Amino acid sequence: MNSDTQSICYWWQERPPTSAPPAAWQDHVEIMIVGCGFTGLSAALTLARAGKRVVILERGLIGEGASTRNGGITSGNIRLSSDQLKRRFGTEKAQKFSDEAVLAREDLARFIADEKVQCDFQPVGRVVGLMGQFSVDRIKRDSATFQARYDIEPVFVEKNKMAEYTSSSLYDGGIFRPDIGGIHPAKLLHEMKRLALEAGVILFSETNVLEIKRAHSDFLLLTNRGQVKAQHVISATNAYTDKAQPWLRRRLVPVISEMIATEKIGRNRVQSLMPKLTMFGESKQLGYYYRPSPDGERILLGGRRSHNDHNRARRHLQGALATIFPTLDDVSVDAHWQGFVAFPFDQLPKLVVRDGIIYPTGFCGSGTVWARWLGQKAALMILGKDGESVFSNLPLRTIPFYTGNPWFMPLAMHYYKLRDRLSASTK
Ligand SMILES: Cc1cc2nc3c(=O)[nH]c(=O)nc-3n(C[C@H](O)[C@H](O)[C@H](O)COP(=O)(O)OP(=O)(O)OC[C@H]3O[C@@H](n4cnc5c(N)ncnc54)[C@H](O)[C@@H]3O)c2cc1C
Repeated sequence: MNSDTQSICYWWQERPPTSAPPAAWQDHVEIMIVGCGFTGLSAALTLARAGKRVVILERGLIGEGASTRNGGITSGNIRLSSDQLKRRFGTEKAQKFSDEAVLAREDLARFIADEKVQCDFQPVGRVVGLMGQFSVDRIKRDSATFQARYDIEPVFVEKNKMAEYTSSSLYDGGIFRPDIGGIHPAKLLHEMKRLALEAGVILFSETNVLEIKRAHSDFLLLTNRGQVKAQHVISATNAYTDKAQPWLRRRLVPVISEMIATEKIGRNRVQSLMPKLTMFGESKQLGYYYRPSPDGERILLGGRRSHNDHNRARRHLQGALATIFPTLDDVSVDAHWQGFVAFPFDQLPKLVVRDGIIYPTGFCGSGTVWARWLGQKAALMILGKDGESVFSNLPLRTIPFYTGNPWFMPLAMHYYKLRDRLSASTK
């Protein structure tokens, strides 16, 4: 196993972050978007195509945030179970979360097809490998309900049929969802950037928003390039929110998620491990997610950060991969990288307005679908169209003394590990 892995995101090898094309600074804009990931670009594209003048300010290069670092699995997950949603919102509203997830996934697939977006979209489905306690009856019942409502057929895969999807013997069964797939996230982002520029959006990279203030009916944004006034502001900074937005920072927990990409092991070997080349997740709280690279030559695997030390963290992910696929024990890793995902305290994405600023945020590690979708909804709110979402106006709460530094994460990780162990030992 190698110890000198490049700390560069695998996806960046083909589509590295770039500076924005040169543009003249403006003192007054109609709509200002802070942050140039899927959320910001999606909002900008929708607004520009409706004839609005839109500017995006990005602190780093274009494509440096989570949107180009992720696993590219179009899961559109909601972390709360349907029972948890029912308890909190009642049966009718709980159903709407699932309805919106189906719509949002379809919308992404339609966008990719209609706009001829070159992002290696592979609608191959996703399997969640079952571990620990689960009820087969329950899964079958939920699958039947899902199929009846959406005409999408989830498949419960018995343990003895798992070999159709994976050579791993780790799972006690699985749930296959045909409506989930994979993309090359950096290609998607740079395609969205291209479409936004074509629609007239102006981008500024390396432009740090330092403060956002009210200035009568407008907003005043202080940046390292100077000041700018805007009639509307969308905050699209999500897990990368900094001290410029203390209110939001107090309400999001930035969690490190990290990934490895193996060396090229060849299509045949990948296919012998994952015969249908599907995306994969695990049913544990701290489960791993993995997938073949779009060219089918290697495997990418990700999970929550386990160690502060870079090499130990990489070895941990390599160990996880070798636990899933023991024959990969000797395979080296070509890339190891990390990024932040944003969790609101109640683990539900949000579309909220506060003091006139619109916040689509808190995608809980499932922003490939949700960030694009809620960015679009934020734009529709400004346009006075259907900006309503099941995530609209859910309270975005904080806890006492929290200012954005999640000192409690090690404790939380221990808690989730313990739950996973208990679930495994009582099955
Ligand atoms: C390792 C990893 C794996 C993941 N895997 C998946 C997956 O498989 N499937 C899935 O659905 N989701 C996944 N996610 C989550 C997904 O990537 C995010 O939810 C999504 O990209 C969020 O998009 P965004 O546009 O809101 O944020 P980002 O893409 O992070 O963009 C926010 C931008 O705001 C900028 N910014 C912050 N502060 C300022 C400021 N003051 N001034 C100017 N700009 C600022 C940042 O520089 C950043 O570029 C993963 C995330 C990570 C890190």
